[in-house]
Amino acid sequence: MNRLAIVGAGAAGVATFIAAVRAGVARTIYMIDPHPVGPGTAFSNTDRDILCNTSVDTMSVLHDVPLDFLEHLSCEGYASTAESFVPRFLVGRYLANRFVQYSAMAREQGVVVKYVSSTFKALKIHGHRRYELEFVDSPQVPSSSLMVTDVVFCTGFGPPRLPLVAQPFFNHSSFIKNPYPEASMLAMIPEKSRVLVMGSKLSAIDSAIVLCRDGHQVTMLSPSGEFPAVRARFMRSPKAAFVGEDIASVMAPGEEGCKTYSPSLHYRYVKYFSKVLRQNIGKDWSQQFSYSSTVLGRLKEEVEIAESGDSQWQEYVVDFMHAINGVHNKEDVYFDGSFHPRFERLLYRYITALALPNARKLLKYIEDGVLCVQGGEISAMDYSDRRPNAWNVSWGGEVHGFDTIVAATGYYQSRYVMSDDGRVELDVTGERGRHAITILPSMAGAHESFGGKESIWFVGAPARPRVWVPNALVVVTPLANQVIESMRQLPRVGAAA
Ligand SMILES: Cc1cc2nc3c(=O)[nH]c(=O)nc-3n(C[C@H](O)[C@H](O)[C@H](O)COP(=O)(O)OP(=O)(O)OC[C@H]3O[C@@H](n4cnc5c(N)ncnc54)[C@H](O)[C@@H]3O)c2cc1C
Repeated sequence: MNRLAIVGAGAAGVATFIAAVRAGVARTIYMIDPHPVGPGTAFSNTDRDILCNTSVDTMSVLHDVPLDFLEHLSCEGYASTAESFVPRFLVGRYLANRFVQYSAMAREQGVVVKYVSSTFKALKIHGHRRYELEFVDSPQVPSSSLMVTDVVFCTGFGPPRLPLVAQPFFNHSSFIKNPYPEASMLAMIPEKSRVLVMGSKLSAIDSAIVLCRDGHQVTMLSPSGEFPAVRARFMRSPKAAFVGEDIASVMAPGEEGCKTYSPSLHYRYVKYFSKVLRQNIGKDWSQQFSYSSTVLGRLKEEVEIAESGDSQWQEYVVDFMHAINGVHNKEDVYFDGSFHPRFERLLYRYITALALPNARKLLKYIEDGVLCVQGGEISAMDYSDRRPNAWNVSWGGEVHGFDTIVAATGYYQSRYVMSDDGRVELDVTGERGRHAITILPSMAGAHESFGGKESIWFVGAPARPRVWVPNALVVVTPLANQVIESMRQLPRVGAAA
């Protein structure tokens, strides 16, 4: 009888679980995670000021009920619309709620659901669809293993990626390595501190917003010194505008090969995007973007554009994400490095754009003089508790004093690899690429040592080499469903397995 293990019980794990229950693919389902089922890393916040940067419209874990999250919020008595950017803890609660609901449904169907509070260590293949899962030992829970017939890895991103220059201070009490959970970060910072937040993207912005709100003086520092773009909503697109084949032809690297880029390639991308936007949006597309050269000027203009309803580019972000993922999905080879890096940076600014309510807060804090954003790379840092601001941090030829440092510099892209002793392992920093498990367009894993087609799958961030944008819920839910549908088409495993 089929025994399915879902490793990682965040949003991707819950979406996979629900799809598995609905499709009836297994008689036993194990949810494996050292943390409670539901919130995962992205939605385990508690602060009301930590918002989603995607609208309620795109946040269902039921692939065929796109407004399921809205319905849940309404049942909970939380006033919102499909456009709203709600606090992230509400998504965590929604995921936990739907897990409980579908667990009950599974039991009614005679399916056994077991939560295993352990950390996955390795998978050993004993034969076709005979997998032994091994767990990390802990003093409280002696490690044991589990035999299953199918596995879906939903383990999200790796640990926070910290800047090397700060390495000597990683264990210092006023060097905060991860801004989440935000309550723990805030509890570690004395009142009215001068705080350096390393980073200027979404987790750095979350940190800056709660720190400024609580009366701290904040400097954000990143090499670009730029914020993401601003959007008033992130909804499913009204129609398909981006065509996979067209994107693929623009992306084709031509004679230069994948890793070298002629300047003209960047402009080819820009031309293609402007053509698609011109064809599909009513407003003059050039009026939808800010051309200001300062961070404050750009933020101000982008807030105004978003508030006026002119930022119609935002309607096609979801469509683009699906189209680009489809392109990567069809190809025999990964498209790693197939975008011009300058253009990829530009695209990410819009794909990971800021929610308008957060942009307004940033603007207010900058105008009130409690927040500043700087571009630069740290050349040196040191700590001494004998001066008023214990941290001295140098960049741009100047030394700046701070009481606390918060690193919000992103996460490692973890990968699954084959170890030398023939076990599938999670390489959390993604640095053992030489032995990486290949991810097929179906999201199944493949490796030369696998005897044949195995039932080992990837959803969310671990699917990244195959999926260009792997981890927004609007992508994760259909991907989970696709994986379970492919699993359903495999032959049933006999009772002996
Ligand atoms: C800070 C942040 C904010 C985000 N905001 C949004 C948003 O507003 N909207 C949106 O659509 N997307 C957002 N995302 C993207 C988000 O990653 C996805 O939407 C989605 O929640 C990813 O879920 P996941 O289950 O893949 O990953 P995660 O939420 O990271 O969950 C992975 C789970 O795997 C477990 N795990 C890891 N390693 C092991 C192991 N070895 N053994 C067992 N379990 C393990 C972890 O404990 C965790 O519970 C955000 C991401 C981040 C990091």
